[in-house]
Formats: sequence, C-alpha cells, structure tokens
Amino acid sequence: MSRTTPRRPCDVEALFPALAAHRRTATRLHPRHGTPTAQESSVAGPLLWPADEPWPVCTAGHPKGTGHLLADVRLRRRIEEDASGRELSEDERRLLDGMAVGNHFPELRDDAPLPMLAVAQLLAADVPDLDGQEGHDLLQVFWCPFEVHGPDRTIDVMLIWRRSADVSAVPVLSPQPEPPVVGRTECVPNMCVVHPEQVVEHEYLGLLEEKLQEEISAWEEGLLDDEGDIDNGDMDNSSSPVGYATYEEYEAAMAAARAEQPEEIDYQSDLSIAPGWKVGGYASWHLTDPAPVNCPLCGAAMPPLLTVDTWECDGASRSWLPVEDRDADNPLHAIAPVGVHLGRGLMRVHTCPTDPSHPHRLSFQ
Ligand SMILES: [Zn+2]
Ligand SMILES: [Zn+2]
Repeated sequence: MSRTTPRRPCDVEALFPALAAHRRTATRLHPRHGTPTAQESSVAGPLLWPADEPWPVCTAGHPKGTGHLLADVRLRRRIEEDASGRELSEDERRLLDGMAVGNHFPELRDDAPLPMLAVAQLLAADVPDLDGQEGHDLLQVFWCPFEVHGPDRTIDVMLIWRRSADVSAVPVLSPQPEPPVVGRTECVPNMCVVHPEQVVEHEYLGLLEEKLQEEISAWEEGLLDDEGDIDNGDMDNSSSPVGYATYEEYEAAMAAARAEQPEEIDYQSDLSIAPGWKVGGYASWHLTDPAPVNCPLCGAAMPPLLTVDTWECDGASRSWLPVEDRDADNPLHAIAPVGVHLGRGLMRVHTCPTDPSHPHRLSFQ
C-alpha cells in the first residue's frame, strides 16, 4: 500500500509568492514494519552488500561489550507488541526481567572492531530526492549503536554510496553481521519496508527574510482571531496522560484522532517542513535556534540528506498523517514505526553539495 500525504490545507505560495524561492522537494520514506528483501529500499533491512566485501565496523575506543544485548532489544519489543492492550503473562514478565544492562562480553576490547548496524538502504529509483552525484544511485546507511563518538558523544554514522548496477547481480552477503550489544535501545531501528512519496517543503520560518517572516506571522495571527476561542488542543507533553501506558501511545492516539478534526493552519506545523523519516528537503530548528551546517573542508552550506525522526507525525503536525493511516489498527505503527530516538527525537545527516567525498555532518533536534 502506498502512502499519501493529504493536500496542504492551503496554497502557501499563492498567499506568499516570495516563498517560491524557498521551495524544495523532499521524499518522505513512510517506513512501516515489514520484511524487505536485499533488492529493495528499506529501513534496517538486508542490504545489497557483496559477499566478498568486508562489513563496516566501528574501531573507536569505547566499552563494546557493555550495554543491551541486541537480541534482548528485539525480543522486548516483540513481547510488548504482542501484549499491547493486555497484561503481560508471567512468562513474558520473567523474560523481560531477565534482560539487563551489563558487561555481556568482557572479553571484547574497547578498540575491537564491532560490526555497525545497517540502518537504511535507499535506491534513487524509489527515492527521487536521493542525489548521490556521478551515477551513485544506491545509499547504504550504517551507525554504531553507542552514543559515545567525537567531542559531542554522538552516534557515528557511515554512508556508503554505490552504483546499483555494480551490485545488483553479485552474490549478497548472508548472514549480514550485527553488533551483539548496543549502547541504548533507542539506537536500534525496527525492520521496515518504505513507501517513498515526494512532497514539497518550504524553508524554516526563522530562516526566511524578515519581511516574509512578519507577513506569515501576521497572517497566522489573523487566522487565530477568526477561530475565536476554539480549543486548539495544545498539550503538555511532559508526562504520560491518564489512560495511556506511555506518552508514545497517547501521542499516537491523539494524532490519529486529530487528523479527522477541522484544520487549524500553522506555517511551521502544516506548510513548511514534513515530519518523519525523509530524504532531502529542509531542516527544522524547532528546538534550538537555527545553526548553520557548513562543510568542514570547503565551507559550502550542507543541506540535510537524510532525516531520522522518532515521530512520523505528532499532535502538532497531524496534517501530515497519510490518508491510508487514519484508520490504522495500531496508530503507533504509523506514528513511531522505527523505534529510534536520537538527540531529542531527530537526527539529520548533512552532505556537501560541492563534493560528495567531503565528510558528512550530523545535526540534532
Ligand atoms: Zn562505536
Ligand atoms: Zn565540501
């Protein structure tokens, strides 16, 4: 089933023609639980990785045997998924209680090469905004699942660009290596198929020229005045609301419900930047002031190549929920399918537009 972002609630370029100069396309990936093949674009699926090539490893020095067993992370998610809406059985509870953070492999040295996690495989044939330059039409994304790298102690991302023709007919590596231990459970993506869909985005409000920002803000205020005192449903998202086990469940239920409600229009939430996993488009700076991301080698401004987001949409950005997901049996599958939470929910990989061999950079929200 494909995924379709609803039409934006108004034509923002008709209202503000100057925005045409601040338009980009992005491809929303719409990851959903599934079992992709190595030939397909996917999140955390098998890769078109030649059998005779070494798998990427992390050689940075950090305690590599200490953390959560990857197998436990997956089993815990399966148990919690099976048990959603009912009490855990005794067996299930015993299994969960047996999972512990610890030094599972004390023999692993800090500098031992640890297989990186396969995070995504994207083909330009599926993802129109995937621009690998020079015929590179296949991107494979890995990360080391410990947030301990570099001065900012972040996740370490590796990008491998290929020409799909080079690997489409060679024997694929099987099984594909994985790290036995991960630093945080939220670094482990669930295996997902993707349903790429190209959408139009407009630059983050705070990065538009001042006059345009003022015009948009004045227009938004006018809309609010028109709505009078309708409850706008703002939420305190600091705790799990009554009736929901987790804040995630609550958010999922709210986003699904609100997708049916009359639109309140807001530039930032509805008309500028799509939430969720995507390729291309703009970076949102809703939690920090905008921070320039420039190439460390040539100084070029680096646009986001890949955005990794905990939420495919939330209460504020509910207008982006695909029409196919409005009646989902389990809204969480549509709203937080991947299970990854980096930074304060969002991590972007930026690449140099001038020279693809220049190192990428990460930004977080
Ligand atoms: Zn590492
Ligand atoms: Zn550069």
